[in-house]
Amino acid sequence: MVKEIKKKDKTFYICEECNFAYESKEWANKCENYCKEHRSCSLEITKHAVKTD
Ligand SMILES: [Zn+2]
Repeated sequence: MVKEIKKKDKTFYICEECNFAYESKEWANKCENYCKEHRSCSLEITKHAVKTD
């Protein structure tokens, strides 16, 4: 399950497999699906990750 966190005015979506944060739920979902299936991250996906602070 993608985790939703709020920091200040922003909402971030966290992939629970690798803990990367995304501003869009779509990317977080893609990341989590990929992580679960491949047991590793896709650079194509994690390049969309953002810092939460
Ligand atoms: Zn992931």
